[in-house]
Amino acid sequence: MTAPVFRFAPSPNGRLHLGHAYSALLNQDLASRLNGRLLLRIEDIDITRCRPDFEQGIYDDLSWLGLRWEKPVRRQSEHFEDYRAAARRLRSMRLLYPCFCSRKTIMEAVARNEAASGNPWPRDPDGAPLYPGLCLSCSVDEAEKRIAAGEDHAWRLDMQAALASAPGPYTYRRFDKQGREELVEAHPERWGDAVIVRKETPTSYHLSVVMDDALQGVTHVVRGQDLEASTDLHVLLQRLLGLPTPLYHHHGLVQDSNGDKLAKSRGSESLAELRDRDVSAVEVRARLGFGAQSLIVSL
Ligand code: GLU
Repeated sequence: MTAPVFRFAPSPNGRLHLGHAYSALLNQDLASRLNGRLLLRIEDIDITRCRPDFEQGIYDDLSWLGLRWEKPVRRQSEHFEDYRAAARRLRSMRLLYPCFCSRKTIMEAVARNEAASGNPWPRDPDGAPLYPGLCLSCSVDEAEKRIAAGEDHAWRLDMQAALASAPGPYTYRRFDKQGREELVEAHPERWGDAVIVRKETPTSYHLSVVMDDALQGVTHVVRGQDLEASTDLHVLLQRLLGLPTPLYHHHGLVQDSNGDKLAKSRGSESLAELRDRDVSAVEVRARLGFGAQSLIVSL
């Protein structure tokens, strides 16, 4: 039997904090318990927010924590061609359509729909309103003209067509820290016509994560609970693209003293700042529940 493959996949758009450390250490811990391999993937598709110094920070922080990973590291920005090919395939299946809407146009349409119906417009699991379908009715001719004229556009999944093309039920297997597995039902329709190729980059988190997990032979995905709902969409994309579905474990999120999840945007203390305050890697590991024992085993 081939060894299980785990991956930690941070985005270099800020410094890592304790939440990332927990996710990285849990990946390492579960990989070593299952005699698995651990990969590191740099998810830098957002070329406006990702920076080389943040990427270097990831390597420095993870090495400091005692993490070891296989090389070469996959950097998503070097693989846009893979994501373009996947998007082309979905387009050839007529499952993507171009969307020229700005965020403002969408919000205005949602407000109009809410006013007309008197009901709140449905939201996706992240709380964003489902796309109200404005560009779905745009003819192929008109869309081609607008694209040829250089108009900015994203590509959205035609959810109804996608569900018809790969009919449900949709499921994946989740595993716990003891290695027990159970079947989970997925409901991709709750994401509506999700953006699969963004305006400013030739992919999206959803498309590139699904492609890379398959291209890298990832068998076990360990990531935060905040991404659990996305898995439903990932399972659908895997079905449409003929890719295997890995096992998933979505872990609880490390919280600050107010009970809020740690976030770069909320100014949570970074691992680099902890290190500058002379907090040791052993202390960080212990605080996250990875005691000295796991340090000895993993080094
Ligand atoms: N790049 C994502 C993040 O930093 C994680 C993606 C994943 O683990 O699927 O939140």
